[in-house]
Amino acid sequence: MLKTILIHPDPRLKKKCDAVADLSDELRTLAADMLETMYEAPGVGLAAPQIGVLSRLIVMDCVKEGTPEPTVMFNPEVLSSSDETNVYEEGCLSIPDQFAEVTRPKEVRVGWIDMDGNPQEKDFDGLWSTCVQHEIDHLNGKLFIDYLGPMKRQMITRKSLKLKRELAR
Ligand code: ZN
Repeated sequence: MLKTILIHPDPRLKKKCDAVADLSDELRTLAADMLETMYEAPGVGLAAPQIGVLSRLIVMDCVKEGTPEPTVMFNPEVLSSSDETNVYEEGCLSIPDQFAEVTRPKEVRVGWIDMDGNPQEKDFDGLWSTCVQHEIDHLNGKLFIDYLGPMKRQMITRKSLKLKRELAR
């Protein structure tokens, strides 16, 4: 089932999300709905708070061509990150049509719980690395525009608010 994606500014996008305690069928359905919503948007990542659910759950698929790799992470955590950084032009499904360059660690090692309740650990590089860091930030109430200077952040927020009001009409 497609979910409605919250548009910035929204207080729910600024909240720290709670850890997932038990993997229920309800949570698995939610993860499947989030993947469907992400592909439909279309986007490469979506975090639960973006659909108003304040739980530590993200979905991603950064494959541009070829076999899709739908990825679901419960309680994802950055375990280590490289000193080397990478600049990537980021966007966000909660801030439509706005893009800006963000500097982040180039590689990260991430731990999470998968759909079967098993712990996983993996190194990410390239778009996957940028995406997983961006999505985990969402679980801590942080948006990519929080990495920008105040002027740029305010400008993007104003444009997003305008769009949000237009969509609400
Ligand atoms: Zn985002």
